[in-house]
Amino acid sequence: AESLHVAEVIRCADFAAIKHKDQRRKDPEKTPYINHPIGVAHILTHEGGITDLQVIQAALLHDTVEDTETTYEELVDVFGKEVADLVMEVTDDKNLSKQERKQFQIEHAPHTSHKAKLVKLADKLYNLRDLSRTTPENWTAERVQEYFVWSSKCVAGLRGTNMKLEDALDAVFKQKGVKV
Ligand code: NDP
Ligand code: ZN
Repeated sequence: AESLHVAEVIRCADFAAIKHKDQRRKDPEKTPYINHPIGVAHILTHEGGITDLQVIQAALLHDTVEDTETTYEELVDVFGKEVADLVMEVTDDKNLSKQERKQFQIEHAPHTSHKAKLVKLADKLYNLRDLSRTTPENWTAERVQEYFVWSSKCVAGLRGTNMKLEDALDAVFKQKGVKV
């Protein structure tokens, strides 16, 4: 059974790498986008102690619908409905404005499934560490700080899910002086 899981994980990494192939992160080094979903999956396994296959699959695929032409139907066809539904739980609704999306994430967080919360916690942890490491071009210190404060409001609705991830997030918030 383990070798089948390894093969499934690699199939997701391959799919995501192809979908994100022309995208870059917002850091000044323009890191390849795929570093992010792989890093989120790595946080889940190595820091969160998570080995649930669907959670790792969803982590690798979590930005494909939001940031590429990938559709829900395609994910259902290739990875099955459960993984596709998990990805949709962590996907922003592009019909909403940017401010509405940010508010929706805060309000929606407590109502998502345990598995989706794990992906969200690791996603936030990765992005906040990235912002602690380096500032994206054209971002002011105020914008970075606002992002930390908004993230803390999202994380408030994800708590009670994984102590190791929540402790790691709290360390990042404390470092930035953000009250939790
Ligand atoms: P964005 O949503 O534009 O950017 C953050 C997102 O970009 C992350 O959630 C992450 O999403 C992705 N990302 C890509 N590269 C990186 C990286 N190196 N580090 C971290 N994240 C990365 O930011 P916001 O618009 O939310 O800006 C934060 C705050 O600043 C907001 O409160 C906003 O009101 C304010 N602000 C916004 C301005 C604007 O032009 N939008 C201007 C001034 C202030 P993923 O995980 O999905 O890849
Ligand atoms: Zn992400």
